[in-house]
This record gives sequence, C-alpha cells and structure tokens, in this order.
Amino acid sequence: MAEEALYNEDLSIHDQWDEICSQLKMEFGETAFDSWLKPLSISSFDNGVMNICAPTAFMKNWVIAHYSDRIHKIWEHKNPEIKKVQFVVQNIAAPSTQSFSHSDTSLLKKIKSTPTPQSLYGLNYAANSFYAPSEDSEYFVSKLNPAYTFENFVVGKTNEFAYAAAHKVAESRNVSFNPLFLYSGVGLGKTHLMHAIAQYIKTNDPTRQVVYLSAEQFLYKFVNALRYKDTAAFKEQFRSVDVLMIDDVQFLANKEKTQDEFFYTFNSLMEGGRQIILSADKSPNDLDGIETRLKSRLNSGLVADIMPTDFELRLGILHQKAQQMGISLPQNVAEFLAQKISANIRELEGSLKRIAAHSQLLSGREITLDMTQDVLKDMLRSIDRKTTIDEIQKKVAEYFNISVKEMQSSRRARNVARPRQIAMYLAKQLTSRSLPEIGRKFDRDHTTVMHAVRKVEELILEDASLAENVESLRRSLEN
Ligand code: ADP
Ligand code: MG
Repeated sequence: MAEEALYNEDLSIHDQWDEICSQLKMEFGETAFDSWLKPLSISSFDNGVMNICAPTAFMKNWVIAHYSDRIHKIWEHKNPEIKKVQFVVQNIAAPSTQSFSHSDTSLLKKIKSTPTPQSLYGLNYAANSFYAPSEDSEYFVSKLNPAYTFENFVVGKTNEFAYAAAHKVAESRNVSFNPLFLYSGVGLGKTHLMHAIAQYIKTNDPTRQVVYLSAEQFLYKFVNALRYKDTAAFKEQFRSVDVLMIDDVQFLANKEKTQDEFFYTFNSLMEGGRQIILSADKSPNDLDGIETRLKSRLNSGLVADIMPTDFELRLGILHQKAQQMGISLPQNVAEFLAQKISANIRELEGSLKRIAAHSQLLSGREITLDMTQDVLKDMLRSIDRKTTIDEIQKKVAEYFNISVKEMQSSRRARNVARPRQIAMYLAKQLTSRSLPEIGRKFDRDHTTVMHAVRKVEELILEDASLAENVESLRRSLEN
C-alpha cells in the first residue's frame, strides 16, 4: 500500500483524478458515473484542500450526499497530502460545455420559457432558495445525445419489434400503446431508442412537452421534495407533460415510497391520456423489488424487448458506425469483430473506436486484420477467456467444499463467508463485470463486493496459504 502511494506521488493531480474516475465508474456503474461524476472537474488544490467543481448546485448536493465519502477515501489513499475534498459550484457565467456537451439546450429553452403556471420549473424550486431554479431545471431534463436518432439505429431481427414500437409511439399524436415498456440487457439500445423518440417528437411536433429522465433522477427529485415538504410541487411538475420517459426503471427497486409516488404520477398521466415510455433491464414480471400493483401497470401497455444481437446485426452496425467515423473497414475485419465481440453493442462500438483512433494516430494506417488483432489484444484475450461469475462461484464452492447455494445465502459463518469473498474478488479480477453486477449474482450490494475485494487483497499479503489457494483457483479458472 505504501508503495502504491509513493508511486502515485509522481502522478499529477489530474492524472490521479482520471484514475479515481475510472475507479468510481467501476464501483458505481456507468449510468451513475455518467450522470453525476463525469461532469465534475478539478478546480484547485491548496493547503491540503482539493476543490472539485460541479456544474450546478443540484449536482453538487447530490454528489456530496452520495459520493463524497468514497471520493475522499480513494483520494486520501492515493495521495496522503490531500486532507479534505470540497465541492464547489462552477461559475454559471461560464457554463461548462464540456460537461454538458450533449445537453439539449433548445429543449431546455423551450421548457424554461413556457410561462404557464404548470410549467415544469415555475414555482417549484423558486420557493426553495437552496436550489436556484435555473440550475436545477438544467438537470431536470436529461441530456439527449444528438447521435441517438432513429436514422442512426440499425434495425435487425433482434430489435425490429422494439424499433417499430418506438417509432410508432413517436409518430402518433394520439396515444397508441400506453405505457410502452422497453427492456433488454445492457448496451443493446434502450437509451438510444428513448432519445430517438424524444428527438423525433421535438422535431416533428414541438408543441408536445417531452420529459426524459433516468429513474435515478426521478428518485432524487422525489427525495428532495420530501425533504423540503414540497411534494405538491413535485406532482405539479409532471402534470403538464405530454410524454414522460423514464429510463432504467429497475433503479426504483426496493424504493417503496418513490414507487408509490411513481405509481401516482403514472396513473394521473394515464388518466389524462398522456404517453408514458419506460425502460428497464428486465421484463416487468421479472423486476425484483417492484410492487405487484406497479408491475401490473407496467405490463398493461406494450412490452417490447430487444434481444441479444445476432451476427448480421453486428455486422450492419459496424459498417454503419465505420461510415459515420469516416473510416474504411475491410469486410474481413468487420466479420472478425462481429464474430468475436458479441456481448453488447457498446463494446462493439468501443472496439471500432479503438481501431479508428489507432489508424488515425498513425496517419491513416490501413486497417487490417493483423492490426486489429494487435490493437485489441487485451480485449480479445479477456473475451477468449470468457470466465463467467457462475463458473467462478461453482469452482470456488467446489474448492472449499460448500454449495453454490450457500455461497449466495446470507450465512456469515467463516467457512462460507471467506469463500464467498474470494469468489467476489476473483469475479472482479477475471471478468469485466461492474461491482453492482457482481453483487447481484451473490444477492449483495456493491459495497459488500467492494469490501470483499479489499479484504481478500489484504489477506493475500498476510496469509500465504490463502494466497496460494486464490492463485491456484485463478489458474484453474483462466484455463
Ligand atoms: P442500453 O440503454 O440498452 O444499455 P444504449 O442505448 O446505451 O444501451 O446503447 C449502447 C450503445 O450502442 C450506444 O452507443 C448506442 O448508440 C449503440 N446502439 C445500440 N443499438 C444500436 C443499433 N441498433 N444501431 C446503432 N447503434 C446502436
Ligand atoms: Mg441505457
């Protein structure tokens, strides 16, 4: 540990921050990271106090409430000179275009300038001097990615139904399917389709008021309303909305009060003939921790899933993205990638970006199969290895002579808890799963996984026989 701190002294504060960001992304997952942490930037460091800027007071408070302890801990560990981490709001006069590069300002302007009493931001937060309305409103409507349009969405067998449903909802003035519920595994296009709907309506029917937000933001707004005893204003915000879109509804699992509120909002919008569009990582029936009555509402319209991609679609997507990036992608390279990188579209895109960047850096070096294999070495190796959490659980359980069931149970006896921690540690090391994803496999949350990983890291240093066990398990899993 001391060694690591020493090493890190050589890194600049900005490099350290980059590293911290990567770690935070891993720990909290991409959605939370993109929403709350990515827009932060370092402002200054003096006298042991690190000042970090948030673009709005709203975000500053959220970050303080949810992430500041962790940021402080990681940083302290990396750089013992840092005694305190402080969050400040960036000067509004100089909006950070970087942080909000995708923010849909015209949509924001439209909403901000709607002077009706029911306007989204009218009185609600003005009454509450803690949040300046202009700041808060900016974040109320999530940023829309201008690249996420219907035109840019490649349609294939696995997603044509979801695409058709999304398109239909976007183009119909009268509510057709209500609610539209989209679900799929990660990185398969839910958010893309949702943004496409919002942007389509905005262009073709600008009088309709569309609100898109993540379930996490919905939750945050609600919790805040409760805190300031302002739930009436909260409800009011949604009343004039024509189309309400909430992404990643699974985030509301086990948040009963928020679910109740959502249920209420949902019903009143439905009764008023407004369109609701939702997404989640599972079908309504399979969502854990969501109340039965809400599930049945979620099921009451059209439920459309996006299935894992097939080879053809992956090929189509690669060609389309290559064209957009202005690179020429030989067919054999495209086929190679489409074959190898099948987990999700985000990864597929990532691989293409890496190849493109590489070719551009070497002033237009031709993209070939050899070069691709070379550039993507690490990625391909980890895909080839393809160790799954299930395998890890099975192997580790066998090794310690317990059952996989016991490993996933709530039992805390040492002979069960230790193997469980080791399995979590190996899952973090050998797979590209995030901490929350690993946690789910063990029926635990991400903090438990984080703790387990650290614990095992410590034990490896202290306990030679345990280190040997872990090593031998790792070897057997890697083969
Ligand atoms: P999800 O919300 O389901 O996790 P996203 O919508 O964020 O997935 O998609 C991940 C990435 O893959 C995005 O960059 C998106 O543009 C891209 N993508 C997904 N599906 C398609 C598709 N059918 N055509 C083109 N790009 C796609
Ligand atoms: Mg998404």
